Amino acid sequence: MTAKEIHDSIFVLDSHCDTPILLRRKGVDIGQKLQTGHVDLVRMKEGGLDASFFAIYVSNKWEPYECTFKALEACASVYDVLDRHPDKVGLATNAKTARELKKQGRIALFLGMENAGPIHKDLSLLRLFHKLGVRYITLTHTGNNEVCDSSATKEKRWNGVSPFGRELIAEMNRLGILVDVAHISDAAFYDVLKYSTRPVVSTHSCCRALCDVPRNLTDQMIKDLAAQGGVLQVTFYPTFLDKEYSVAAGPLLDAYEEAQDLYDADPVANEKCLKEAEKALFALPRPSYKKVVDHIDHVVGLVGPDHVGFGSDFDGIDVCPAGLEDVSYIPVLTEELHARGYTPRDIEKIMGGNFLRLLE
Ligand SMILES: [Zn+2]
Repeated sequence: MTAKEIHDSIFVLDSHCDTPILLRRKGVDIGQKLQTGHVDLVRMKEGGLDASFFAIYVSNKWEPYECTFKALEACASVYDVLDRHPDKVGLATNAKTARELKKQGRIALFLGMENAGPIHKDLSLLRLFHKLGVRYITLTHTGNNEVCDSSATKEKRWNGVSPFGRELIAEMNRLGILVDVAHISDAAFYDVLKYSTRPVVSTHSCCRALCDVPRNLTDQMIKDLAAQGGVLQVTFYPTFLDKEYSVAAGPLLDAYEEAQDLYDADPVANEKCLKEAEKALFALPRPSYKKVVDHIDHVVGLVGPDHVGFGSDFDGIDVCPAGLEDVSYIPVLTEELHARGYTPRDIEKIMGGNFLRLLE
């Protein structure tokens, strides 16, 4: 079998993209091929994507009520896509529906929530978001919240998962919402493994052994996650793939994000500043897409092929690996796995089968 034949025959699933941010902020129609962003329904088809988790993201900096409101807005924007393009996409909340949609030639859209902020400390809101279709929750983002600590903070609030977080995990287990450990602190990771009665996932993280940043998982964490049946979905953000890039790009990324905020506030006055920040950032050589497969290889070396996949973080990242600039390039991963000697069966597991198993 050629890599293309394998890619066309398997179920391909991306466990994390931030496209709802684009839907809300820019009001774009992803039914068309867009010149901006990384994801639209046309490029998803080109990339052979069968399913994607659209993240309902909220910032740790927002007020609690703002979080719930913005999460509802983000859900509404995904529902608008579903309404507008019923021939191209359908909402999926389990593996069976996703497979049926593929048979009909439609892409399955799943909902994930990035940061439990919209839930406050109210399990009724969790049950409501479950009814809306949310099937995983990344417990926090770059700040400590009511549920647990973040990998990004110096000062920890709970030293792991909070008492409410423990209740939340129990209710998520009961409802069938996956617990996502991406972004959370190491202590919180181990609390989640202790409290969750179901396999847990990291929907978009890499291996700390290959790129030593707190957002990535250590070898021991990967082994413990796998021992409980979980899956690590390797992410594309160059800063998490390659330490050298991470160090060099840090200040350029900060400057770029600052310029973007200024541009959003006043596009006319700040266009030049944004262009310059963009130019400086993109002048830096980016790691190759092969780095993504290096991280996949590393996980397979530790725990075998049943506990790894990919979660792009497209539309949530400012830069992509070279050769993986948007969702239409996804087949390069299958090609690279094939070139490295992976069997069609193992490629099928890695490109979506493993994550789908947890949604059965
Ligand atoms: Zn994220």
